[in-house]
Amino acid sequence: MSDARVGLVIEDDHDIRELVRTVLTQAGFDVTVASSGAEGVLVAKNINPDVITLDLGLPDIDGFEVSRQIREFSDAYIVMLTARTEELDTLIGLESGADDYLTKPFRPRELRARVAAMMRRPRSAPEPADAPAEAPAESNGHPERGNFSHNGLELSYASRTVLVDGREMNLTRTEFELLHALLEAGRTVRTKSDLVRRLRDEDYDVGSYISEADERSVEVHMGNLRKKLGDSPQQPRWLQTVRGVGYRLAPSAH
Ligand code: CA
Repeated sequence: MSDARVGLVIEDDHDIRELVRTVLTQAGFDVTVASSGAEGVLVAKNINPDVITLDLGLPDIDGFEVSRQIREFSDAYIVMLTARTEELDTLIGLESGADDYLTKPFRPRELRARVAAMMRRPRSAPEPADAPAEAPAESNGHPERGNFSHNGLELSYASRTVLVDGREMNLTRTEFELLHALLEAGRTVRTKSDLVRRLRDEDYDVGSYISEADERSVEVHMGNLRKKLGDSPQQPRWLQTVRGVGYRLAPSAH
């Protein structure tokens, strides 16, 4: 059985599409391309990709809407490629379910690094029938895995599941990683920069500096995570904002 990872490039510009195809192919992906938003959604349903690069400016439906539609059935890692530099666009993109963004023109190695960092994480929950109870330890710089339980929320890293009061949550990989990072840290504050680096995986740090937009992206992902968990910013059960710094786990309710 092929172990190749599956990539999908949704892009109407021929040259960029071929560039991204090359980058992903060199990174070991089986790559399929789509040149419109509607086609991209359809193909995503069929091939179940691990990674999707998504152009914001598509001829039919824009990248925001494409991302929203794909999120209804897929936990693929979505990188939005945008020619626009406005911060607002970036944030709307993340609100629509994208994990990350790159502004065109981007360096191929930057795209490669982002994708590689994300692919080092487990793709999704293993099948219960043939999976071991514990995932094998990986030497990827984050030794603290395992299971966490806090104020009615249970997270299992091995099975990639999060239960809130016994109900399974449908989180994106980015949301899962952020929640896991806070559970690991406990009452220690994680700064937004810490969390950006965590999402990019430090071993794959290509010397990138953390911009204000990167930190804002963490805020957007945290906002999405809060909404899904049904957590309140004012009376948090789990995600406590430390103003001007970052986030930490809310105290245990006893
Ligand atoms: Ca375009």
